[in-house]
Amino acid sequence: MAELCARIADDRAAGFRPVCVVGTAGTTNSGAVDDLAAIARIAHEEGAWFHADACFGGFFRLTERGRAALRGIEDADSISVDAHKSLFLPHGSSALLVKDRVRLGDAFEIPGAAYLPGFVDEPELADFASYGPELSREIRGLTAWLPLKMHGVAAFETTLDEKIDLAHYLADRLATLDGLEVVRQHPIHLPVVIFKLSGARDSVLNAELCELVCSRGNVYLTTTELPEHGLVVRACILHHQTDRTVVDRMVDDVEWSVRVLRDKEN
Ligand SMILES: *Cc1c(COP(=O)(O)O)cnc(C)c1O
Repeated sequence: MAELCARIADDRAAGFRPVCVVGTAGTTNSGAVDDLAAIARIAHEEGAWFHADACFGGFFRLTERGRAALRGIEDADSISVDAHKSLFLPHGSSALLVKDRVRLGDAFEIPGAAYLPGFVDEPELADFASYGPELSREIRGLTAWLPLKMHGVAAFETTLDEKIDLAHYLADRLATLDGLEVVRQHPIHLPVVIFKLSGARDSVLNAELCELVCSRGNVYLTTTELPEHGLVVRACILHHQTDRTVVDRMVDDVEWSVRVLRDKEN
């Protein structure tokens, strides 16, 4: 927050007017969540728009732990969410939510052509052409509406809760493995588990560890870089079918991979 305030002060000193601050409600990289309440306060004190990037983690707000993690998001002027991530829906199911819809109308509404009848525009029946750049558009909302109608919101809440539980379970199990270190994150973060070989091992070995686990064909992991840890291995638990069986198999694969690496070194 100190850094944010300093950047805003620098901008003002240079003659710029800060117009927007973006906070992240769950980074794709590590699942870390910004202090959204504090960012909202600073942005609004400065007369700037506060956008919350909740593409990755927004729907965790359906769960109690997610609501605690995303505290302050309700103060955002706009929020972007990807239902194709934390709502498990088909790709391309994204939405931009705004607090004050009039602002979108001001930006995007164009007078209708003479041949078009006036559209109905009421809260339950929005004319989306007035709220975004598209006129003719797909019925994208169906990809979210139908699964929600079919399964009910509670099914999504239960499944998201399960992912948070699985991330804790995975972190705890990996922590018991010899030669491996789980990068402990702030208690409030979304289900991404970061780990690496313990001791002063280099990036190449961690990349090799990731490749070995993937080569078993059971799970797909990626590597990423964290400022204080360098190259680390990243497990992102965000598929509706990922369960304890998958996680247990992954732990076996990690154990096997660490052993392979150790044997190679000796
Ligand atoms: C995925 C993601 C985006 C980009 O969203 P797309 O739907 O892939 O275009 C932006 N921000 C965060 C935090 C994300 O996780």
